Amino acid sequence: MRQRAVRDQKRLDSGAVSSPKDLENLQREIASLAKRQGDLEDVVLEVMERRESAQERVAELTERVGSVQGRIDDATVRRDTAVEGIDGEVASVTKEREVISGSVPPALLSLYDKLRAQQGGVGAAKLYARSCQGCRQELAITELNEIRSAAPDTVVRCENCRRILVRTSESGL
Ligand SMILES: [Zn+2]
Repeated sequence: MRQRAVRDQKRLDSGAVSSPKDLENLQREIASLAKRQGDLEDVVLEVMERRESAQERVAELTERVGSVQGRIDDATVRRDTAVEGIDGEVASVTKEREVISGSVPPALLSLYDKLRAQQGGVGAAKLYARSCQGCRQELAITELNEIRSAAPDTVVRCENCRRILVRTSESGL
């Protein structure tokens, strides 16, 4: 288009076009070409601006992806560390349990294991302020009286949930 405008301008300048009507047409065409060129330049400018803003957005999103990835990496490291800690704790508690269970009479241990399986992993509970800490129920007076008169080595159980009750100085007896 620009070449065409230059060619038209050359024809105009050369004086080869002599008819006033042709001259007028040529001048009109040059003017229209100039306007179209201006319009196209505006379009090119707009496209460039849009491209620039798209590139900025890409950079911004890339940075955000990087930051999210960084946070994922941090969380992964923290999770792995926590899992390691929990594994260590499980190993030490398991060992501790083995030692303690070795000193518990076999019949009591098997009762405890049976209750533990039935009661969601808790086979024995503390009797605290006249309540069973396994089922959170307050014990009846008669039940408390029975427990109060039972020998210290008697295995007492909760009437409600059947768990083994552990008596302490805070039992409220
Ligand atoms: Zn209970």
